[in-house]
Amino acid sequence: VGKKQREFDYFALALQWPGTICASTRHCCAINGCCRSEPLQTFTIHGLWPDYDDGTWPACCRHTSFDMDKILPLKPTLEKYWPSLYCSSSSTCFSGKGPFWAHEWEKHGTCSSPVVKDELEYFTTALDLYFKYNVTEMLASGGIHVSNGKQYALTDVIDAIKCAFGASPQIVCKKGSVEELRLCFDKDLKPLDCLTTTATNENVSKKKYCPRYITLPTYDPI
Ligand code: 5GP
Ligand code: 5GP
Repeated sequence: VGKKQREFDYFALALQWPGTICASTRHCCAINGCCRSEPLQTFTIHGLWPDYDDGTWPACCRHTSFDMDKILPLKPTLEKYWPSLYCSSSSTCFSGKGPFWAHEWEKHGTCSSPVVKDELEYFTTALDLYFKYNVTEMLASGGIHVSNGKQYALTDVIDAIKCAFGASPQIVCKKGSVEELRLCFDKDLKPLDCLTTTATNENVSKKKYCPRYITLPTYDPI
């Protein structure tokens, strides 16, 4: 970070499972957070991340502060599908505090060139991929219908994604529940196998390993 960065190798679209996150954030009741009137039972966006093939990644690359004016038409869509599920506002690389997605643009989006050239393109690319590859639907088409308390074989979840998406996801867990599911893409935005299917590489702490049977807890607003 800070030095001139070499170009990234591939993208990961990181999606988060609200039921798992909301179970451990003391039910943040921010308007776009865990206490929505409608329970969030679909994956929401964490970020579109440029990564290196060696498992590392660049961050905070170009000093380009988030500018709401550049993406105003997208704001309602971002608030709906890219909610901040943590109570605190997110600290950004360059501009101080902002919404979760402003943090993601500054930390990851600024490292996405030359594939993604600016802020507007970063958000449209992330949203396009999110809508094109609906993970919640891919799971359902593989017979994984999300139901609270139910256990699923990790291999079944991975196979459902492989079958519908054509490449292996990376899955990150928290206390046996799915916290994140990441889809990987090459620079032409075509599906690509993620480096590891589950968080078992040394970059990810042991706490985030997925057991053989996992849950997808549903979140119900209070
Ligand atoms: P955590 O330690 O919670 O897994 O990740 C903390 C932060 O590090 C993430 O929010 C993200 O910004 C960054 N990060 C973690 N894993 C990856 C990765 O595989 N690729 C990229 N680009 N960033 C990551
Ligand atoms: P990362 O650097 O790991 O990509 O982003 C994590 C940062 O965003 C942290 O500062 C965290 O507090 C903030 N944040 C706000 N809302 C969320 C959320 O819904 N999920 C995650 N993972 N981080 C969030």
